Formats: sequence, C-alpha cells, structure tokens
Amino acid sequence: MYIDQLELKDKKVLLRVDFNVPLNSDYKILDDTRIEKALPTIKYILEQGGSIILLSHLGRPEKKKKADGSIDRQKFTLEHTVQRLTELLGDSAKAVHFVGDTIGSEVQAKAKALEPKEILVLENTRFYAEETAGDKDFAKQLADLAAVYINDAFGTAHRAHASTATVAQFFDQQHKGFGFLIKEELEAAKKLTNNPARPFTAIVGGAKVSDKILLLEKMLDNVDHIVIGGGMAYTLIKAQGGKIGASLLEEDRVQTAKDFLAKAKERNVQILLPTDSVIADKFDNLANTKTVASNDISAGWLGLDIGKQAAADFTKVIEASKTIIWNGPMGVFEMKNFSNGTLQIADAVAKATKNGAYSLVGGGDSVSAVNQAGKGDEVSFMSTGGGAMLKLLEGSTLPSVEAITK
Ligand code: AMP
Repeated sequence: MYIDQLELKDKKVLLRVDFNVPLNSDYKILDDTRIEKALPTIKYILEQGGSIILLSHLGRPEKKKKADGSIDRQKFTLEHTVQRLTELLGDSAKAVHFVGDTIGSEVQAKAKALEPKEILVLENTRFYAEETAGDKDFAKQLADLAAVYINDAFGTAHRAHASTATVAQFFDQQHKGFGFLIKEELEAAKKLTNNPARPFTAIVGGAKVSDKILLLEKMLDNVDHIVIGGGMAYTLIKAQGGKIGASLLEEDRVQTAKDFLAKAKERNVQILLPTDSVIADKFDNLANTKTVASNDISAGWLGLDIGKQAAADFTKVIEASKTIIWNGPMGVFEMKNFSNGTLQIADAVAKATKNGAYSLVGGGDSVSAVNQAGKGDEVSFMSTGGGAMLKLLEGSTLPSVEAITK
C-alpha cells in the first residue's frame, strides 16, 4: 500500500526516513536534501491528523566507535537533525520532540503522550547492533509504539535491517505502506522496466566492473546500447586485447568481461567503449596528460577520463535515445582536469531529455556529477538511493519493499 491509501487520522505512525545527512565537524548539516525529500510524507501524515514517531540512522556509529569501544553518541546523535526539521516544517507541525533513545520506557512514555500533528524523533537506530542485525525483538519494540508503519527511506531500502524490514511484519496490510519518496523511486524504476521507449541506452561508469557487472548483464535484456566509461572500461578494453598501461584493471574479471562482450554481440546490444582516453602519468589533477587511443596506453600511464572522440561518439548515441539510465561517472570527475567527459555526458543526457527522452540518473556519484554540471533540473529523475536503485535495476527485489508488500 502507499501512504495515501491508508487511514491516518488520530493514528500514531512509525515513520522510517533516511536522515543520513552529511555533517561538518561542528555537527552542522552540510546538505539537507535528504530531510527535504522526506517532507511530503511527513507533512501528509500531519495534515491527515496523525502523529509521527520518526526513525532514522545517521552515519555508521557501529563502525566508527570511540577508542574505548563505545558508540560516539555526540557525533552520531539524530538530535543534529531536529532543529533543521523543525525549521523546514514551520507551522505544519505542532511540536517536534526528541528522545535520546530508540527503545525503552522513556521512548514508550513519550510516544504514548504524543498528540496529533506532533513528531517524536527517536535516537539513531544504529546505536543498537540489533538494527543492522534485523533483530526481531528490537523491531517488535519499535512496532509496539505505533498503529501504522510507513517506510520512506529509499536510501536504505536494499538493507534488511530491523527498522527498514523486520518491523513491517508486525503490521497488517491496512496498517503499513510506502511514503511518497519510495513511491516516486519505484515508479521511476518501473518506467525503465515496463515497455521503455526506444532506443534505450544505459550509460555505465565508475571504478569497477565487479560492482556493476550484474547491472550490465541485466541491461543486456532491456537496452539497445550500453555506453561504458570510467575506470571499469579498461578491464573491458583489456578483454578485447588492448594495451591499457597502468589504468584500473580487475585482472580476475577479464574473463567475465569477455563473456559479457560475447553475450552483448549475441543479443545485438551495441557496446560503446571509449575510443580515446585522457591519460596521466600519475593519479593527480596536476599530472602530465595527453589524449591517446584507449587500447594503446603506454606502460606507467593511466586513463582517467574519456577523450574528445569518445565523448562525441557517446553523445551521438545518447542524444538519439528515448530512454536513458545513467550510473557512474566517465572519469575521475572529482579532479577538474578529468571531469570533462562526465560533464559532456551530463549535457548530452540533458539535451536528450529536452527532446523528449525519459532519463534516470542513479548512484551517488552520477547524481553529484549532474549537479556539478548544473543539469540537475534537466534530467527526468535523480534517484536518492544509489545502492537501492542499482538493485532495482538489476532486477532484485528490495527487502524493505518486500516486507511491506507481502
Ligand atoms: P562508482 O562508485 O563505482 O560509481 O565509482 C565512482 C568512482 O570511480 C569515482 O570516485 C571516480 O573517481 C572513479 N573513477 C572513474 N573513472 C576512473 C578512472 N578512469 N580511473 C580511476 N577511477 C575512476
């Protein structure tokens, strides 16, 4: 069920959001996009006359413990998000409270006292190891706080954690559902899997073949062209017998890459690899550079961006496409001197979209590349959850989606 199909008036709603925002060393929020993205769902529940018991994780407190082995509560407390949430909600909320625990008697008492249109923010779910373990007792204690469970945390939808998946089993179909953000993300993914307009082009980049091979294989069933750039392209070029110098290589994936290229040929999917590359004599923005054929890179040099010819070839295919999915940058775009290819691809995707294509950008790095190119508003959809979107596009079901729909 989606949130707008559920009865929420006078109900206590346990709402899982993704408030995993970046903080500076004074714990100030650097980018509040994730909080903003959850606002439609939060406001809707309040408008319907419900109250909210709000759950989220923040960072990885279980991985970044203090020297004495304890959780760094000061650094990872969800309280850092409360002021910003309060400001963004303005008059929409009657009050926003915070409680310094996730379960237990204080949480129960405050949840019980919550009035319609009020919000109670619980402490970081990952302060408890039970969260990532998907623990049933912990999930039951969360479930007991509310009558309805809503999940709108797309960024963690691919994790089977207590607050994202296990908790859903304690609510029946009339009392659990997805928030608007997850709804939007699922519908965006569906546009690519249900009868996409053609030609359909996948643009895949980033560091490793091993991270994206499932996506690449899945794409062979759906798309007409696959444009491949970034570090992963060199393992494929090596598989074709090219000389790649010191470029990124996953030696143990060369055979996988060969098999993939053979399968693509069988299925008539055009694979575009960069014909030329900007190469550097070290991994540094200020390295010496030149542009050469991608399959003829001298020893000691490494390919850090696609070249001009490759960008032009890719652009031609992208601009003629009617459906586009993009995951992963075309080069080391964080370094200015190797960002050109990625920015040009962002341009091409924006142009295709203007000409009527549906374009989905998924994956943290590609989203920041599109923003860096100033094209954020010119693509059809930017996914907020790189890992979760990748899983959807690979054809996997997400544990938190399954937990709500079954
Ligand atoms: P991913 O998270 O797999 O999408 O990979 C993104 C990372 O890949 C970025 O940090 C890029 O700097 C890096 N990357 C892209 N192209 C290359 C390349 N040619 N060589 C090394 N790293 C690259």
